[in-house]
Amino acid sequence: MKMEVVEAIAAVRERVGGARSEGRRIGLVPTMGAMHEGHGRLMERAAAECGFVVVSIFVNPIQFDRPSDYQSYPRDVASDADYCAGKGVHLVFSPSVEEMYPRPQRSFVEVTALTDHLCGRFRPGHFRGVATVVSKLFGIVGPDCAYFGEKDAQQLAVVRRMVRDLNMPIEVIGVPTVREADGLAMSSRNVHLGPEERGLALSLYRALRHAQGLVASGERDAARVVKEAAKIIPSQAAVKLEYLEVVDAEEMQPIAKIDRPVRVAGAMWVGSTRLIDNLFCEVG
Ligand code: AMP
Repeated sequence: MKMEVVEAIAAVRERVGGARSEGRRIGLVPTMGAMHEGHGRLMERAAAECGFVVVSIFVNPIQFDRPSDYQSYPRDVASDADYCAGKGVHLVFSPSVEEMYPRPQRSFVEVTALTDHLCGRFRPGHFRGVATVVSKLFGIVGPDCAYFGEKDAQQLAVVRRMVRDLNMPIEVIGVPTVREADGLAMSSRNVHLGPEERGLALSLYRALRHAQGLVASGERDAARVVKEAAKIIPSQAAVKLEYLEVVDAEEMQPIAKIDRPVRVAGAMWVGSTRLIDNLFCEVG
């Protein structure tokens, strides 16, 4: 089956309807494009589990809290489509802003509490924009399964909760973070990093690894974990740690005593690039 790229919602409905009538399971991988292996892993997983895989490519304006980030976000739909074709994707949905938002959007999806901390605290409106566009994509595609990366753990938790709270008949599948050889989480924004910044960026992962190691070796005081891990971040003008927190793995609430599985999550600025990462920590 040859992969197609469509821009119209009606075309998506038509192609997905055809696949569904053939009894295929429909998988959706929502992305903002600028594909890397992290996206690739989601597509491979979808292709292994679904008979018809849709990848959406849409840089969603309503989830950006900074206009400059929206403007500079890397965009190259043609090479993204080639990448998708190599991963067994059947349909790429690449709508314009006008197609997704033909009139002022008056309906929004807000997931409370889970969005109070971590990125939610620093990016006003971000998760409202994410939950709204994901629910629109779910309404357009009607997937059986949707694939999201653990790299954006708070986003994954928000989408899972939205689907449960709003009774959407969709299975949400989380896929482990894909990393560069040295451990840096792959991200579309990594292209903005200069060579020196690339080196500094790695310190976020190293701090999270240190935190994970402390928890593994029995440290149960979250504040101590954070304090120790933060020491790994170099004190340089180009680097600014935005947050480093220990949260419970489901509700994304900060906890003081690590008595259940947690995520240590961080956000860091390197120059004008904002990076996020997180690691899951089991408690023995
Ligand atoms: P984005 O295009 O950045 O919005 O990401 C689209 C999807 O890919 C989201 O579900 C992300 O969580 C996921 N993703 C991004 N980077 C990675 C990564 N390094 N490993 C796994 N999944 C990722």
